[in-house]
Amino acid sequence: MRFAMVDGNKVIAEPGLKGFCPGCSQPVAAKCGGERVHHWAHSRNKMCDTWWEPETEWHRTWKSKFPEDWQEIYLPDEQTGEKHIADVRTSDGFVIEFQHSHINPLELKSREMFYKNMAWVVDATRLKRDYPRFLKARKSFTIEKKGIFRINDLGGCFPSAWRKSYVPVIFDFRGNETISDANDLRHPLYCLFPYQIVGCGLVAEISRKAFINAVYNGKWTEKALIFMKPYFEAMKEREALRERLKSLELGLAFNKFVRSRNYPKRKRF
Ligand SMILES: [Zn+2]
Repeated sequence: MRFAMVDGNKVIAEPGLKGFCPGCSQPVAAKCGGERVHHWAHSRNKMCDTWWEPETEWHRTWKSKFPEDWQEIYLPDEQTGEKHIADVRTSDGFVIEFQHSHINPLELKSREMFYKNMAWVVDATRLKRDYPRFLKARKSFTIEKKGIFRINDLGGCFPSAWRKSYVPVIFDFRGNETISDANDLRHPLYCLFPYQIVGCGLVAEISRKAFINAVYNGKWTEKALIFMKPYFEAMKEREALRERLKSLELGLAFNKFVRSRNYPKRKRF
């Protein structure tokens, strides 16, 4: 955790400080050793949010792009009784989760269902093969419109864990690196929109500044929805089809019931 409560204030970890977890109110101590970024750790128990991952410099750099009162927002989970910490939650409820480590599919789904209006920002520098694979796949992108590309071979482009996501996933291939070449393709972010139903991937190339601005001025959700529309429409169609099938099945069951009442089986002679 970057913040704890000290004398009623949200405070960052400094050597020797003690405070309280804003989520579970348990005592926490500042950890300011050399290896990990300065953080707060629970003194007695484990971290109260089971979804929490140890933070890296990359997390901190990203979080610090947003106001402090949007960072580390504790939200109650009625299913588990836990509280979960949204890395960033804007004043209108849009959540950004910054993910460095591998995430298992069940947790991915749980987090998406819990936060709903959210996007992932993924540290795509963790595995060395990811960027060369993306570069290779990028050659066969087809242009949908300016800055938006269609990917036919999604499997050969992004890590499989993220292809099952139901919300936008933003890949950061630059991470904390400083790259002097202004044309380097690691400068922009690449936002993959959910594809499960539309069948192929849709990716937007977006500058870091444009993404941060869109989040700041509350336009992100509106912009993302334009690309999510075909997906939602397909979802709605699937839902309608399911309903039709259900009523058809009910109808068939009803007919069977009526037949069984009106026409008892004839006795065989
Ligand atoms: Zn806690």
